[in-house]
Amino acid sequence: MSRSTEPLTEELLREADELLPSLIRNALIGIYIIQDDLFRYANPRFAEMFGYTQAEICGRLGPTALIVPEDRCKVSEAISRRLHHGADTAHYTFRGRRKDGSQIELEVFGNRTEFDGRPAIIGILVDITSRCSAERIAREQLHFIGQLIEAIPSPLFFKDERARYLGCNKAFEAFIGKPREALIGRSVFEISPPELAARYHEADQALFDHPGVQTYEALVASADGRNRDVIFNKATYFKSDGSLGGLVGVITDITDRKQTEALIWMQANYDPLTGLPNRRLLNDRLAELMKQSHRTHDCVAVMFIDLDRFKEVNDTLGHEAGDRLLVEAARRIVSCVRESDTVARQGGDEFTVLLPGLADEAPIERIAEDIIETLAQPFQLGHDVAYVSASIGITLFPKDAETPADVLKNADQAMYHAKDEGRNRFSYFSPRMQEAALQRLQLGKDLRHALERGQLSLHFQPILRLADGHFHKAEALLRWSHPQRGFVSPAEFVPVAEELGLIDAIGTWVFRQAIETVVRWRAAVPAHVADSLQITVNASPRQFAKGRSLAILLDELTERDLPGACIAIEITEGLLLDEHPSVTAQLARLSAAGIQISIDDFGTGYSAMAYLKRMDIDTLKIDRSFVRDLTTDPSDLAITEAIIAMAHKLDLEVVAEGVESEAQCDRLAAAGCDYGQGYLFSPPLPEDAFFGYIARHSP
Ligand code: C2E
Ligand code: MG
Ligand code: MG
Repeated sequence: MSRSTEPLTEELLREADELLPSLIRNALIGIYIIQDDLFRYANPRFAEMFGYTQAEICGRLGPTALIVPEDRCKVSEAISRRLHHGADTAHYTFRGRRKDGSQIELEVFGNRTEFDGRPAIIGILVDITSRCSAERIAREQLHFIGQLIEAIPSPLFFKDERARYLGCNKAFEAFIGKPREALIGRSVFEISPPELAARYHEADQALFDHPGVQTYEALVASADGRNRDVIFNKATYFKSDGSLGGLVGVITDITDRKQTEALIWMQANYDPLTGLPNRRLLNDRLAELMKQSHRTHDCVAVMFIDLDRFKEVNDTLGHEAGDRLLVEAARRIVSCVRESDTVARQGGDEFTVLLPGLADEAPIERIAEDIIETLAQPFQLGHDVAYVSASIGITLFPKDAETPADVLKNADQAMYHAKDEGRNRFSYFSPRMQEAALQRLQLGKDLRHALERGQLSLHFQPILRLADGHFHKAEALLRWSHPQRGFVSPAEFVPVAEELGLIDAIGTWVFRQAIETVVRWRAAVPAHVADSLQITVNASPRQFAKGRSLAILLDELTERDLPGACIAIEITEGLLLDEHPSVTAQLARLSAAGIQISIDDFGTGYSAMAYLKRMDIDTLKIDRSFVRDLTTDPSDLAITEAIIAMAHKLDLEVVAEGVESEAQCDRLAAAGCDYGQGYLFSPPLPEDAFFGYIARHSP
């Protein structure tokens, strides 16, 4: 059976009317009517929302009582707008006050109406307290995240899934020198220079293609224009539906770290004084060159350069002057080689040069000669002038050795050979040298015990006065009787003693022995000749720089009440070249004590005559290399004659060394030479034999 629409609607309306009161009573929202500033009606839910009973509200309370004071104004305005100013509806939120004083958040939908023929308001209230607190939490969380991002000191940015900037922190703004407003919504192409933008874009794209994390280092120009080394750490993020949201990136500035690393690397690989590669970098480069040469079969020449006499400069002029000399020496060596070659400071006064691609001897030797020549030039060190020379050892790879260590050892041995050969020269490595190096090592070990084991002794070589054939001078020469090797030449072991720092102790011993001998010698002759006797002793430059041997010599003479003239000291020219105040002062002290000073081996060194005038020198000893060819080589004769003439002009006496023949002796006598020393008269003799010789040859 079907019903018509008309009666159905009426019926439904009637049913609804009957239902309405119960709907209002049971509604889950608050329903109210306000009139004359009083609640005319409040449904049970309304009363419950505020913690009152319906009876307590209806006809008794006005809206003000149920509103927190701060919101009262806002609510009463809304009410009066509807009641008196023609507004029909209102929709707003406010904070209500419950009977117990607690607050609730409420949303109101109010309508103007008529009740009992007069204006009233009917409205519904929804408790939105929990919704509000969820919003508040969300807001707070956003605020917190915002602060968090700002709190990160590294530049941070985030982009959407199309790599457009969404935001960044202050550090990022500072880093790129733009406010975030200039970034948001833009792509890198609108912000960074094209080639940089392309790089960033490519990286972003790669990350989007393989979502996850991405880390890379880059050199970028920051807003202040300086290049910065940075690390980009980027990660993708996703929306709640699982789709790609974009990326977030953090930039870590590692410029300082990189600089520190570079500094540490510099310190580990370069010599701070000269700025040259140090031993470590040298080894790396050598190993690299050797690897290359395996492939290319190229030859590498390695030079080991040692400055002759550097230690004397260091000892006499001081470390600061020594340092300046090393810096200048380094500069000079570098100027002799190609840019592609390596010059390294091996330590101390030793330099190493790596010359790749040189197989012929001619260019290698030219470089070695250049280095020797440039280092022989005087070094101006503040007010002082110093002279050194260089001994160079050369070895070839792969010809001479297979490993870097062996290459360097060979070069070192070749350098020692050059020193043995008279310094200021170069020599090539040969396998023989290895043997010599081992021997030298052993020699050093043995020498440490030579003194205490009584293996040292002095021999005496008479020095003849050519005018009358008198022997009243002799040179004390050191002898080492080695238990296995037999006699070892002082020319061999004195440099070793100098190197090992043993020379002062040995020198002191030599002085004491020489004094003992001169005392015995004086005792053996008539009193009137005793004071003319003299023993000359060789002193190493080291004894002037360090130690107490010279002071001990003076003390001994005083203690024994001996005239200073009974001892003369032989020094080499090199000592005088630097004219260091401490050397000059020591020489002056010796002179003051009456001790004479002789220049040994004159003519072989620098022959810078100027010092002869300034220093208190008594005797020149012409080196035996001039005497040897005196009778056959006119220039040697000329030099010898010139030295004698000059010495006499300067009031110096002259001793000719190494006189072996009558012919030489005659020539020397004819040239006016004062004294002769050599095998022609006598070899160096032990004390007994020496006294015997003197006794036999006294006129
Ligand atoms: P020197 O001071 O030039 O000594 C002269 C050297 O020539 C001595 O060699 C001597 O034996 C040698 N000789 C002498 N007459 C002749 C000759 O007619 N022909 C040849 N061919 N040689 C002759 P020696 O004794 O081997 O000493 C070598 C060097 O060792 C000395 O050269 C000196 O520089 C050094 N020396 C020796 N004793 C000492 C010492 O006590 N202290 C220091 N610091 N050095 C010393
Ligand atoms: Mg001598
Ligand atoms: Mg000599």
